[in-house]
Amino acid sequence: MISFEMPESIQAQVEMARRVALDIMRPQARRYDNNEHEIPWEYVDVMWEASLYDRPGSGSSEEGAGEETSGPAAMALGASMALVHMVEQLSWGAAGIFLCTPGSVLGGAAIEATGTPEQKERFLARFHEGKPKWAAMAMTESHCGSDPAAIRTRAVRDGDHWVLDGEKIFVTNGHKSLIDSNGFVVVWATVDPSAGRAGIKPFVVEAGTPGIKVTKLERKMGIRASDTASLTLEHCRIPLQNLLGSSEAPEDSAGFKGAMTTFDATRPTVAASALGIARATIDLLKELLPAEGRAVSYVSPRNLRSAIERDILGMEAELRAAWLLTLKAVWLMSQRRPNTLEASMCKIKAGEVVTHITQKGVELMGPLGYSRRLLLEKWMRDAKINDLFEGTGQINRLIVARRILGYSSKELK
Ligand SMILES: Cc1cc2nc3c(=O)[nH]c(=O)nc-3n(C[C@H](O)[C@H](O)[C@H](O)COP(=O)(O)OP(=O)(O)OC[C@H]3O[C@@H](n4cnc5c(N)ncnc54)[C@H](O)[C@@H]3O)c2cc1C
Repeated sequence: MISFEMPESIQAQVEMARRVALDIMRPQARRYDNNEHEIPWEYVDVMWEASLYDRPGSGSSEEGAGEETSGPAAMALGASMALVHMVEQLSWGAAGIFLCTPGSVLGGAAIEATGTPEQKERFLARFHEGKPKWAAMAMTESHCGSDPAAIRTRAVRDGDHWVLDGEKIFVTNGHKSLIDSNGFVVVWATVDPSAGRAGIKPFVVEAGTPGIKVTKLERKMGIRASDTASLTLEHCRIPLQNLLGSSEAPEDSAGFKGAMTTFDATRPTVAASALGIARATIDLLKELLPAEGRAVSYVSPRNLRSAIERDILGMEAELRAAWLLTLKAVWLMSQRRPNTLEASMCKIKAGEVVTHITQKGVELMGPLGYSRRLLLEKWMRDAKINDLFEGTGQINRLIVARRILGYSSKELK
Protein backbone atom coordinates (compact mmCIF):
# COMPACT_ATOMS: atom_id res chain seq x y z
CA MET A 1 0.00 0.00 0.00
CA ILE A 2 1.29 3.44 -0.86
CA SER A 3 2.29 5.50 2.16
CA PHE A 4 3.24 9.16 2.21
CA GLU A 5 4.62 9.10 5.74
CA MET A 6 8.33 9.63 6.25
CA PRO A 7 9.75 6.18 7.15
CA GLU A 8 11.14 6.14 10.69
CA SER A 9 14.40 4.67 9.43
CA ILE A 10 15.33 7.86 7.56
CA GLN A 11 14.36 10.43 10.17
CA ALA A 12 17.88 10.82 11.57
CA GLN A 13 19.32 11.45 8.09
CA VAL A 14 16.64 13.98 7.26
CA GLU A 15 17.15 15.70 10.59
CA MET A 16 20.85 16.00 9.85
CA ALA A 17 20.07 17.58 6.48
CA ARG A 18 17.73 19.99 8.26
CA ARG A 19 20.51 21.03 10.65
CA VAL A 20 23.02 21.47 7.83
CA ALA A 21 20.48 23.60 5.97
CA LEU A 22 19.77 25.73 9.01
CA ASP A 23 23.24 26.07 10.51
CA ILE A 24 25.55 26.06 7.50
CA MET A 25 23.66 26.77 4.29
CA ARG A 26 21.19 29.45 5.25
CA PRO A 27 23.74 31.75 6.96
CA GLN A 28 26.02 31.48 3.90
CA ALA A 29 23.36 31.65 1.20
CA ARG A 30 23.90 35.31 0.38
CA ARG A 31 27.68 35.03 0.35
CA TYR A 32 27.70 32.26 -2.25
CA ASP A 33 25.03 33.99 -4.28
CA ASN A 34 27.19 37.12 -4.39
CA ASN A 35 30.50 35.30 -4.95
CA GLU A 36 29.33 33.27 -7.91
CA HIS A 37 31.27 30.00 -8.39
CA GLU A 38 33.14 30.19 -5.07
CA ILE A 39 33.12 26.62 -3.74
CA PRO A 40 31.29 26.36 -0.39
CA TRP A 41 33.97 24.20 1.22
CA GLU A 42 32.50 24.10 4.72
CA TYR A 43 29.30 22.61 3.30
CA VAL A 44 31.20 20.32 0.93
CA ASP A 45 33.40 18.93 3.71
CA VAL A 46 30.49 18.34 6.06
CA MET A 47 28.50 16.53 3.40
CA TRP A 48 31.44 14.48 2.26
CA GLU A 49 32.30 13.52 5.81
CA ALA A 50 28.77 12.52 6.61
CA SER A 51 28.34 10.70 3.31
CA LEU A 52 24.94 12.13 3.64
CA TYR A 53 24.40 12.27 -0.01
CA ASP A 54 25.94 10.25 -2.77
CA ARG A 55 23.25 9.07 -5.05
CA PRO A 56 22.34 9.52 -8.65
CA GLY A 57 20.22 12.43 -9.56
CA SER A 58 20.85 15.52 -7.55
CA GLY A 59 19.54 18.10 -9.71
CA SER A 60 21.33 19.79 -12.33
CA SER A 61 21.02 18.33 -15.52
CA GLU A 62 20.74 17.96 -18.90
CA GLU A 63 17.97 17.04 -20.75
CA GLY A 64 17.39 13.95 -22.61
CA ALA A 65 14.35 15.57 -22.27
CA GLY A 66 12.28 14.45 -25.16
CA GLU A 67 12.65 10.83 -24.21
CA GLU A 68 10.50 8.37 -22.45
CA THR A 69 11.52 5.24 -20.67
CA SER A 70 9.96 1.99 -19.60
CA GLY A 71 11.13 1.83 -16.02
CA PRO A 72 13.16 3.77 -13.51
CA ALA A 73 16.44 2.74 -11.98
CA ALA A 74 14.90 1.24 -8.88
CA MET A 75 16.05 2.35 -5.47
CA ALA A 76 14.91 0.92 -2.13
CA LEU A 77 12.00 2.82 -0.61
CA GLY A 78 14.04 4.07 2.36
CA ALA A 79 16.89 5.30 0.15
CA SER A 80 14.70 7.04 -2.39
CA MET A 81 12.49 8.62 0.28
CA ALA A 82 15.60 9.73 2.18
CA LEU A 83 16.95 11.27 -0.99
CA VAL A 84 13.93 13.44 -1.80
CA HIS A 85 13.43 14.49 1.81
CA MET A 86 17.10 15.48 2.15
CA VAL A 87 17.13 17.29 -1.17
CA GLU A 88 14.04 19.22 -0.08
CA GLN A 89 15.66 20.16 3.24
CA LEU A 90 18.99 21.15 1.70
CA SER A 91 17.28 23.27 -0.95
CA TRP A 92 15.32 24.98 1.79
CA GLY A 93 18.79 25.98 3.04
CA ALA A 94 20.21 27.17 -0.32
CA ALA A 95 19.52 25.48 -3.65
CA GLY A 96 22.74 26.69 -5.31
CA ILE A 97 24.90 25.38 -2.47
CA PHE A 98 22.96 22.11 -2.53
CA LEU A 99 23.99 21.65 -6.17
CA CYS A 100 27.62 21.70 -4.99
CA THR A 101 27.09 18.54 -2.94
CA PRO A 102 30.07 16.30 -3.61
CA GLY A 103 29.47 12.87 -5.11
CA SER A 104 28.97 11.13 -8.39
CA VAL A 105 25.60 12.80 -8.88
CA LEU A 106 24.56 13.02 -12.56
CA GLY A 107 27.70 11.41 -13.92
CA GLY A 108 27.03 8.58 -11.48
CA ALA A 109 23.40 8.37 -12.56
CA ALA A 110 24.50 7.84 -16.16
CA ILE A 111 26.93 5.14 -15.09
CA GLU A 112 24.31 3.41 -12.94
CA ALA A 113 21.95 3.42 -15.92
CA THR A 114 24.33 2.38 -18.67
CA GLY A 115 27.57 0.98 -17.21
CA THR A 116 28.64 -2.63 -16.85
CA PRO A 117 29.21 -3.98 -13.30
CA GLU A 118 32.95 -3.60 -13.83
CA GLN A 119 32.54 0.04 -14.93
CA LYS A 120 30.30 0.83 -11.96
CA GLU A 121 32.97 -0.50 -9.62
CA ARG A 122 35.82 1.22 -11.47
CA PHE A 123 34.21 4.65 -11.64
CA LEU A 124 31.96 4.80 -8.57
CA ALA A 125 33.95 3.13 -5.76
CA ARG A 126 36.15 6.23 -5.52
CA PHE A 127 33.19 8.23 -4.21
CA HIS A 128 33.35 6.34 -0.95
CA GLU A 129 36.89 7.31 -0.03
CA GLY A 130 39.51 10.04 -0.12
CA LYS A 131 38.85 13.74 -0.65
CA PRO A 132 35.58 15.30 -1.88
CA LYS A 133 35.10 14.81 -5.59
CA TRP A 134 32.45 15.25 -8.24
CA ALA A 135 31.28 13.79 -11.53
CA ALA A 136 29.22 15.55 -14.19
CA MET A 137 27.27 14.69 -17.30
CA ALA A 138 27.64 16.63 -20.55
CA MET A 139 24.93 16.26 -23.13
CA THR A 140 23.84 19.77 -24.12
CA GLU A 141 25.57 21.56 -27.02
CA SER A 142 25.10 25.04 -28.34
CA HIS A 143 22.59 23.90 -30.96
CA CYS A 144 20.86 21.09 -29.03
CA GLY A 145 19.39 20.48 -25.61
CA SER A 146 15.88 19.16 -25.91
CA ASP A 147 16.85 17.13 -28.97
CA PRO A 148 19.97 15.13 -28.13
CA ALA A 149 19.76 13.27 -31.46
CA ALA A 150 21.40 16.38 -32.90
CA ILE A 151 24.58 15.95 -30.82
CA ARG A 152 27.67 16.74 -32.91
CA THR A 153 30.50 15.82 -30.53
CA ARG A 154 32.28 12.99 -32.31
CA ALA A 155 33.84 9.79 -30.98
CA VAL A 156 36.11 7.98 -33.41
CA ARG A 157 37.87 4.72 -32.67
CA ASP A 158 41.64 4.74 -33.07
CA GLY A 159 43.22 1.41 -32.10
CA ASP A 160 42.84 0.93 -28.37
CA HIS A 161 41.30 4.34 -27.84
CA TRP A 162 38.31 6.50 -28.57
CA VAL A 163 39.14 10.01 -29.69
CA LEU A 164 36.58 12.66 -28.76
CA ASP A 165 36.18 16.09 -30.35
CA GLY A 166 33.48 18.65 -29.68
CA GLU A 167 32.04 21.28 -27.36
CA LYS A 168 29.58 20.99 -24.48
CA ILE A 169 27.75 23.77 -22.69
CA PHE A 170 25.84 24.15 -19.41
CA VAL A 171 27.54 21.28 -17.62
CA THR A 172 26.62 21.37 -13.94
CA ASN A 173 29.70 20.78 -11.79
CA GLY A 174 31.75 20.61 -14.99
CA HIS A 175 34.55 22.61 -13.36
CA LYS A 176 34.53 20.79 -10.01
CA SER A 177 34.54 17.42 -11.77
CA LEU A 178 37.84 18.24 -13.39
CA ILE A 179 39.74 19.77 -10.44
CA ASP A 180 40.30 16.50 -8.57
CA SER A 181 42.22 13.86 -10.46
CA ASN A 182 39.55 11.33 -9.50
CA GLY A 183 36.65 13.30 -10.96
CA PHE A 184 35.20 12.71 -14.41
CA VAL A 185 32.62 13.81 -16.92
CA VAL A 186 30.27 11.47 -18.77
CA VAL A 187 30.28 12.90 -22.29
CA TRP A 188 27.58 12.01 -24.81
CA ALA A 189 29.01 11.78 -28.32
CA THR A 190 28.06 10.26 -31.64
CA VAL A 191 29.93 7.34 -33.12
CA ASP A 192 27.93 7.67 -36.34
CA PRO A 193 26.31 11.01 -37.21
CA SER A 194 24.19 9.37 -39.93
CA ALA A 195 22.56 7.08 -37.32
CA GLY A 196 20.88 9.91 -35.37
CA ARG A 197 19.85 8.91 -31.86
CA ALA A 198 21.18 5.36 -32.26
CA GLY A 199 24.69 6.71 -32.75
CA ILE A 200 24.75 8.63 -29.44
CA LYS A 201 26.82 6.90 -26.73
CA PRO A 202 28.15 7.77 -23.26
CA PHE A 203 31.93 7.98 -22.66
CA VAL A 204 33.74 8.59 -19.38
CA VAL A 205 36.42 11.26 -19.66
CA GLU A 206 38.52 11.35 -16.52
CA ALA A 207 39.98 14.55 -15.06
CA GLY A 208 43.51 15.06 -16.28
CA THR A 209 42.89 13.52 -19.70
CA PRO A 210 44.75 15.70 -22.22
CA GLY A 211 42.33 17.55 -24.48
CA ILE A 212 39.42 18.23 -22.12
CA LYS A 213 39.22 21.69 -20.64
CA VAL A 214 36.83 24.19 -19.14
CA THR A 215 36.46 27.16 -21.45
CA LYS A 216 33.86 29.16 -19.56
CA LEU A 217 31.93 29.34 -16.29
CA GLU A 218 28.42 30.54 -16.97
CA ARG A 219 27.20 33.63 -15.13
CA LYS A 220 23.63 32.93 -14.11
CA MET A 221 20.47 34.48 -12.76
CA GLY A 222 20.03 31.95 -9.95
CA ILE A 223 21.69 28.94 -8.27
CA ARG A 224 24.84 31.01 -8.59
CA ALA A 225 26.91 28.89 -6.21
CA SER A 226 26.60 26.02 -8.66
CA ASP A 227 29.24 25.90 -11.40
CA THR A 228 27.82 25.57 -14.88
CA ALA A 229 30.68 25.06 -17.32
CA SER A 230 31.38 25.00 -21.03
CA LEU A 231 33.86 22.29 -22.03
CA THR A 232 35.87 21.58 -25.14
CA LEU A 233 37.25 18.22 -26.16
CA GLU A 234 40.16 18.34 -28.59
CA HIS A 235 41.59 15.00 -29.69
CA CYS A 236 40.73 13.69 -26.28
CA ARG A 237 41.97 10.08 -26.15
CA ILE A 238 40.29 7.72 -23.72
CA PRO A 239 40.59 3.94 -23.32
CA LEU A 240 38.09 1.75 -25.17
CA GLN A 241 36.88 0.53 -21.78
CA ASN A 242 35.47 3.99 -21.05
CA LEU A 243 32.58 3.52 -23.47
CA LEU A 244 29.78 2.82 -21.01
CA GLY A 245 27.95 -0.47 -21.38
CA SER A 246 30.58 -2.14 -23.47
CA SER A 247 34.28 -2.74 -23.35
CA GLU A 248 34.65 -2.26 -27.09
CA ALA A 249 31.76 -2.34 -29.52
CA PRO A 250 29.43 0.65 -29.53
CA GLU A 251 26.48 -1.52 -30.53
CA ASP A 252 26.78 -3.33 -27.18
CA SER A 253 26.45 -0.07 -25.30
CA ALA A 254 23.01 0.50 -23.82
CA GLY A 255 23.57 4.06 -24.92
CA PHE A 256 20.97 6.68 -25.15
CA LYS A 257 17.85 4.80 -24.22
CA GLY A 258 19.44 3.35 -21.11
CA ALA A 259 20.43 6.79 -19.93
CA MET A 260 16.89 8.04 -20.25
CA THR A 261 15.86 5.80 -17.37
CA THR A 262 17.95 8.05 -15.16
CA PHE A 263 15.51 10.88 -15.68
CA ASP A 264 12.73 8.91 -14.08
CA ALA A 265 14.90 8.82 -10.98
CA THR A 266 16.29 12.34 -11.16
CA ARG A 267 13.18 14.37 -12.04
CA PRO A 268 11.57 13.74 -8.64
CA THR A 269 14.74 15.03 -6.97
CA VAL A 270 14.59 18.21 -9.06
CA ALA A 271 10.96 18.55 -7.98
CA ALA A 272 12.01 18.09 -4.35
CA SER A 273 14.65 20.79 -4.72
CA ALA A 274 12.07 23.17 -6.17
CA LEU A 275 9.70 22.46 -3.32
CA GLY A 276 12.39 23.14 -0.72
CA ILE A 277 12.73 26.67 -2.14
CA ALA A 278 8.96 27.07 -2.18
CA ARG A 279 8.65 25.97 1.45
CA ALA A 280 11.44 28.37 2.46
CA THR A 281 9.40 31.20 0.94
CA ILE A 282 6.17 30.28 2.70
CA ASP A 283 7.99 29.78 6.02
CA LEU A 284 9.53 33.24 5.81
CA LEU A 285 6.26 34.89 4.83
CA LYS A 286 4.50 33.32 7.79
CA GLU A 287 7.28 34.56 10.04
CA LEU A 288 7.21 38.13 8.72
CA LEU A 289 3.55 38.82 7.98
CA PRO A 290 2.29 38.72 11.60
CA ALA A 291 4.67 41.56 12.52
CA GLU A 292 2.83 43.63 9.94
CA GLY A 293 -0.53 42.67 11.39
CA ARG A 294 -1.22 40.23 8.56
CA ALA A 295 -1.08 36.85 10.30
CA VAL A 296 -2.70 33.91 8.55
CA SER A 297 -5.71 32.40 10.27
CA TYR A 298 -6.64 28.80 9.57
CA VAL A 299 -9.92 28.98 11.47
CA SER A 300 -11.61 32.21 10.47
CA PRO A 301 -14.66 31.88 8.19
CA ARG A 302 -13.82 32.04 4.50
CA ASN A 303 -15.82 35.20 3.92
CA LEU A 304 -13.73 37.03 6.52
CA ARG A 305 -10.33 36.07 5.14
CA SER A 306 -8.08 38.67 3.58
CA ALA A 307 -6.65 38.40 0.08
CA ILE A 308 -3.23 37.72 1.63
CA GLU A 309 -4.63 34.82 3.65
CA ARG A 310 -6.24 33.45 0.52
CA ASP A 311 -2.88 33.70 -1.27
CA ILE A 312 -0.94 31.94 1.49
CA LEU A 313 -3.50 29.15 1.86
CA GLY A 314 -3.51 28.67 -1.89
CA MET A 315 0.29 28.52 -1.95
CA GLU A 316 0.32 25.91 0.82
CA ALA A 317 -2.25 23.79 -1.04
CA GLU A 318 -0.20 23.95 -4.25
CA LEU A 319 2.98 23.06 -2.40
CA ARG A 320 1.26 20.07 -0.84
CA ALA A 321 -0.14 18.89 -4.17
CA ALA A 322 3.28 19.04 -5.82
CA TRP A 323 4.92 17.25 -2.89
CA LEU A 324 2.36 14.42 -2.99
CA LEU A 325 2.96 13.98 -6.73
CA THR A 326 6.69 13.84 -6.03
CA LEU A 327 6.28 11.22 -3.33
CA LYS A 328 4.13 9.13 -5.65
CA ALA A 329 6.80 9.21 -8.36
CA VAL A 330 9.41 8.16 -5.81
CA TRP A 331 7.24 5.43 -4.35
CA LEU A 332 6.62 3.90 -7.80
CA MET A 333 10.36 3.97 -8.43
CA SER A 334 11.03 2.14 -5.18
CA GLN A 335 8.53 -0.55 -6.26
CA ARG A 336 10.37 -0.95 -9.58
CA ARG A 337 7.27 0.22 -11.35
CA PRO A 338 7.36 2.58 -14.35
CA ASN A 339 7.10 6.18 -13.20
CA THR A 340 7.87 8.16 -16.35
CA LEU A 341 4.45 9.83 -16.27
CA GLU A 342 4.60 10.69 -12.57
CA ALA A 343 8.24 11.82 -12.71
CA SER A 344 7.40 14.30 -15.47
CA MET A 345 4.16 15.36 -13.79
CA CYS A 346 5.79 16.13 -10.46
CA LYS A 347 8.59 18.05 -12.11
CA ILE A 348 6.17 20.17 -14.14
CA LYS A 349 4.00 20.87 -11.12
CA ALA A 350 6.92 21.64 -8.81
CA GLY A 351 8.54 23.92 -11.39
CA GLU A 352 5.33 25.90 -11.74
CA VAL A 353 4.58 25.98 -8.03
CA VAL A 354 8.01 27.23 -7.01
CA THR A 355 7.97 29.92 -9.70
CA HIS A 356 4.54 31.14 -8.60
CA ILE A 357 5.21 30.95 -4.86
CA THR A 358 8.53 32.77 -4.98
CA GLN A 359 7.10 35.54 -7.16
CA LYS A 360 4.20 35.91 -4.74
CA GLY A 361 6.67 36.01 -1.88
CA VAL A 362 8.42 39.03 -3.38
CA GLU A 363 5.08 40.62 -4.16
CA LEU A 364 3.56 40.16 -0.70
CA MET A 365 6.54 41.73 1.06
CA GLY A 366 6.52 44.71 -1.30
CA PRO A 367 9.74 46.71 -1.67
CA LEU A 368 11.36 44.71 1.13
CA GLY A 369 10.72 41.54 -0.87
CA TYR A 370 12.48 43.09 -3.85
CA SER A 371 15.46 44.23 -1.79
CA ARG A 372 18.51 42.16 -0.90
CA ARG A 373 17.78 42.48 2.79
CA LEU A 374 15.73 39.30 2.53
CA LEU A 375 16.37 36.11 0.58
CA LEU A 376 13.01 36.29 -1.17
CA GLU A 377 14.42 37.88 -4.32
CA LYS A 378 17.17 35.22 -4.41
CA TRP A 379 14.67 32.41 -4.11
CA MET A 380 12.70 33.94 -6.97
CA ARG A 381 15.87 33.81 -9.10
CA ASP A 382 16.77 30.30 -7.92
CA ALA A 383 13.29 28.96 -8.67
CA LYS A 384 13.14 29.18 -12.45
CA ILE A 385 15.88 26.66 -13.22
CA ASN A 386 13.60 23.88 -12.02
CA ASP A 387 11.40 24.53 -15.01
CA LEU A 388 14.39 24.35 -17.38
CA PHE A 389 16.92 21.65 -16.64
CA GLU A 390 16.16 17.92 -16.65
CA GLY A 391 13.79 18.63 -19.53
CA THR A 392 11.94 21.90 -19.77
CA GLY A 393 8.31 22.28 -18.71
CA GLN A 394 7.23 22.02 -22.34
CA ILE A 395 9.20 18.84 -22.95
CA ASN A 396 7.86 17.21 -19.81
CA ARG A 397 4.35 18.18 -20.88
CA LEU A 398 4.95 16.37 -24.14
CA ILE A 399 5.97 13.27 -22.21
CA VAL A 400 2.83 13.47 -20.07
CA ALA A 401 0.62 14.00 -23.12
CA ARG A 402 2.16 11.04 -24.96
CA ARG A 403 1.67 8.77 -21.96
CA ILE A 404 -1.94 9.80 -21.42
CA LEU A 405 -2.98 9.87 -25.07
CA GLY A 406 -0.93 6.86 -26.16
CA TYR A 407 1.19 8.62 -28.77
CA SER A 408 4.80 7.76 -29.58
CA SER A 409 7.51 10.42 -29.62
CA LYS A 410 7.37 10.34 -33.41
CA GLU A 411 3.61 10.96 -33.42
CA LEU A 412 3.64 13.82 -30.92
CA LYS A 413 6.66 16.10 -31.00
C1 LIG B 1 21.87 25.98 -14.89
C2 LIG B 1 21.81 24.91 -15.93
C3 LIG B 1 22.40 23.69 -15.69
C4 LIG B 1 22.41 22.70 -16.67
N1 LIG B 1 23.07 21.52 -16.42
C5 LIG B 1 23.22 20.65 -17.45
C6 LIG B 1 24.07 19.49 -17.31
O1 LIG B 1 24.60 19.21 -16.22
N2 LIG B 1 24.28 18.71 -18.39
C7 LIG B 1 23.71 18.97 -19.61
O2 LIG B 1 23.93 18.23 -20.55
N3 LIG B 1 22.86 20.03 -19.75
C8 LIG B 1 22.63 20.87 -18.73
N4 LIG B 1 21.81 21.98 -18.90
C9 LIG B 1 21.15 22.20 -20.17
C10 LIG B 1 19.63 22.00 -20.10
O3 LIG B 1 19.30 20.65 -19.86
C11 LIG B 1 19.03 22.52 -21.42
O4 LIG B 1 19.20 23.91 -21.42
C12 LIG B 1 17.57 22.19 -21.57
O5 LIG B 1 17.40 20.82 -21.77
C13 LIG B 1 16.94 22.90 -22.76
O6 LIG B 1 17.69 22.68 -23.91
P1 LIG B 1 18.11 23.94 -24.83
O7 LIG B 1 18.76 24.93 -23.93
O8 LIG B 1 18.86 23.46 -26.00
O9 LIG B 1 16.74 24.55 -25.28
P2 LIG B 1 15.92 24.17 -26.59
O10 LIG B 1 15.81 22.70 -26.71
O11 LIG B 1 16.49 24.93 -27.72
O12 LIG B 1 14.50 24.75 -26.20
C14 LIG B 1 14.23 26.14 -26.22
C15 LIG B 1 12.75 26.32 -25.87
O13 LIG B 1 11.93 25.59 -26.81
C16 LIG B 1 11.11 24.66 -26.13
N5 LIG B 1 10.97 23.44 -26.93
C17 LIG B 1 11.97 22.71 -27.48
N6 LIG B 1 11.45 21.64 -28.13
C18 LIG B 1 10.11 21.71 -27.99
C19 LIG B 1 9.01 20.90 -28.42
N7 LIG B 1 9.21 19.79 -29.14
N8 LIG B 1 7.76 21.28 -28.09
C20 LIG B 1 7.53 22.40 -27.34
N9 LIG B 1 8.53 23.21 -26.89
C21 LIG B 1 9.79 22.87 -27.21
C22 LIG B 1 11.83 24.37 -24.83
O14 LIG B 1 10.94 23.91 -23.83
C23 LIG B 1 12.41 25.73 -24.49
O15 LIG B 1 11.44 26.53 -23.88
C24 LIG B 1 21.75 22.94 -17.91
C25 LIG B 1 21.11 24.17 -18.13
C26 LIG B 1 21.14 25.14 -17.17
C27 LIG B 1 20.46 26.46 -17.46
